[in-house]
Amino acid sequence: MRPDILNPLFAEVRAMKGVGPGLAKPLERLALVRIKDVLYHFPASWTYRKAVQRLDVADVGCNIILAVTVMDHRSSGSARAPLRIYAADAEGNYITLTFFGRNGGWARKQLPVGEARIISGKLDRYGDELQMVHPDHIVAVGEAGAPGLAEPVYPLSEGLTNRRMGQLASAALEHLPDLPEWIEPSLLTARNWAGWNAALHQVHHKDDAANRDRLAYDELFSNQLAMRLVRAAMDQRKAVPISGTGALVDRLQLPFALTGAQQRVIAEIEGDIAQSRPMLRLLQGDVGAGKTMVALRALLRAVEAGMQGAMLAPTEILARQHFAGLQKLLAGLPVNIAILTGREKGKLREATLMGLADGSIHILVGTHAIFQEAVTYKALALAVIDEQHRFGVSQRLMLSRKGRGVPHLLVMTATPIPRSLALAAYGEMDSSQIDELPPGRTPVETRVISQERLPEIVDGVARHLSAGKQAFWVCPLVEESENSDLAAAEQRAEMLRLRFGEQVAVVHGRMKGAEKDAVMERFIRGETRLLVATTVIEVGVDVPNASLMIVEAADRFGLAQLHQLRGRVGRGAEKSVCLLIRSAQIGETARARLALMRETNDGFRIAEEDLKLRGAGELLGTRQSGDSPFRVATPEQVRALISVAADDARLLLDRDGGLAGPRGEAARLCLYLFERDAGIATLRGG
Ligand code: ADP
Ligand code: MG
Repeated sequence: MRPDILNPLFAEVRAMKGVGPGLAKPLERLALVRIKDVLYHFPASWTYRKAVQRLDVADVGCNIILAVTVMDHRSSGSARAPLRIYAADAEGNYITLTFFGRNGGWARKQLPVGEARIISGKLDRYGDELQMVHPDHIVAVGEAGAPGLAEPVYPLSEGLTNRRMGQLASAALEHLPDLPEWIEPSLLTARNWAGWNAALHQVHHKDDAANRDRLAYDELFSNQLAMRLVRAAMDQRKAVPISGTGALVDRLQLPFALTGAQQRVIAEIEGDIAQSRPMLRLLQGDVGAGKTMVALRALLRAVEAGMQGAMLAPTEILARQHFAGLQKLLAGLPVNIAILTGREKGKLREATLMGLADGSIHILVGTHAIFQEAVTYKALALAVIDEQHRFGVSQRLMLSRKGRGVPHLLVMTATPIPRSLALAAYGEMDSSQIDELPPGRTPVETRVISQERLPEIVDGVARHLSAGKQAFWVCPLVEESENSDLAAAEQRAEMLRLRFGEQVAVVHGRMKGAEKDAVMERFIRGETRLLVATTVIEVGVDVPNASLMIVEAADRFGLAQLHQLRGRVGRGAEKSVCLLIRSAQIGETARARLALMRETNDGFRIAEEDLKLRGAGELLGTRQSGDSPFRVATPEQVRALISVAADDARLLLDRDGGLAGPRGEAARLCLYLFERDAGIATLRGG
């Protein structure tokens, strides 16, 4: 049970004062559900402003704050033309305030002729005039809400303004409990870190990197602690040694030969599961490296030994694809495989539960549902967790199971963990790498193209489709300009349907499971040819005939995500292309990141570079997009920080694998804070 002191942090945002239904959608899109999510939604950058008195000496291109008197409103009468409002500083220097579209009506009210106002925004030159387009603040002199010299800039979503986001953060900060410190006091002193409470306040109020490091450390620490708890719990229990007879594995008819790397890791895994010490192994292999086959081999060993295996997938789509794929490979073998997700209900579900309990189902594939309380296995000997390398709920749910022994655990990930970090970050686990792709794959050719060339891109898609091939078109799910609640993907699909008609299908995160599966299945069967999607297709989906991947606003994705997306193509013999569409204006870092994607297909290299460019946030944390909130930048610094966290976590665990002493209690709060809570209590009880 979560300690009561944390309850305010887990309260829902929509229960906060002043959060109306209008904010529901944008908050949901940004995954800001609980107060703690808002607290950990850090500014992506800061706007700095200069207070100026006189326009004639102000720097063009700078953000300024200035007092003006409104002189005149001018609109050309045409609805399309912007509204221009003329204003003057104390010396009589003029500036044009320009408002496009619907902002005009609002601006007229905010800027009545003859009144004085404080405004802020970027000073531009337009012809001979000084101009400011859409000032970011307009307030009457002496009124609250005057622009500050430094202002946080938050990642936003349509319907949520930066100002509103700032207010939400401030409101959330009022709910902060005072938590006991879990960081070792000498470390706090040495690094000059503030307490947790103060660090969160500061992160939203000033651009100070030390706070971010502290908050980053909390996350690393919690992950280390969670992993160590799992390790300790496993070490105290015994697993059933699995020694297969070969009866099934030898009869498996594969359409290809296993790569050397696959054979090697299979041997490593078989060596582990033959022991009574429970396996805890991380299997890394780039997208398309053939991890599923390795998992299948291990699962079959369990079945040969008269026991059961389970495979957990992160999404419903992926669970179904695994199920279908494994079923096909197992055809003709005396192996009973079943699927269980939140969608299997009624009789079907009952039958599966019974089959698991009496042992007639040998392999179960599914989502989190497969480790829920109600699911009892007769003899679960091996659990495979696909695409989830962060230690958390699923691993521990699995461990909290009662039964003959603790199952062996194989965690698979296509997110390459940079070599420079792996040992520090996952030292508690054994690790295997598939460092070789199956033969016959041509590397995916990657091109970066500006958004302005969209028409040419669409022409390219037309050629691709008429050659009988399929394509993915990925849209990011943020800040579309329309007021509708349709996902960006649906809007893009509409446009593409004008040209490609019924060949276009859409899949996005807000679809119901069954609906989503139906769309995916039709695409996999080739009945639709252009799949417009949000990143729900990110992990795992395998469609060999799809050899073109288009990623819109690629600069908004993290490198690891882009690499995952690109991995969706290049699975057939066909040469594949990945087009990264970049926004018209992008910064240095974004440019460098896209250039790297063009340059290499090597996931480890990408992970390593990403680490240099962005810091550890995305890699080890939950954060998927936007800039890393962490300052710690070089791989060396990150590694050092993880080592400190690992050592400290080790010290905190007592001999029985429990958390001891007052700091142990505090550390438990840190675990719960990052939702690594499930199963801890059970673990301690054995
Ligand atoms: P991932 O490691 O990304 O999970 P998968 O297991 O989905 O990769 O495999 C990707 C594709 O490669 C699948 O279509 C699979 O059948 C195929 N594959 C796996 N191993 C081999 C191999 N040794 N030779 C050829 N194709 C293979
Ligand atoms: Mg996979």
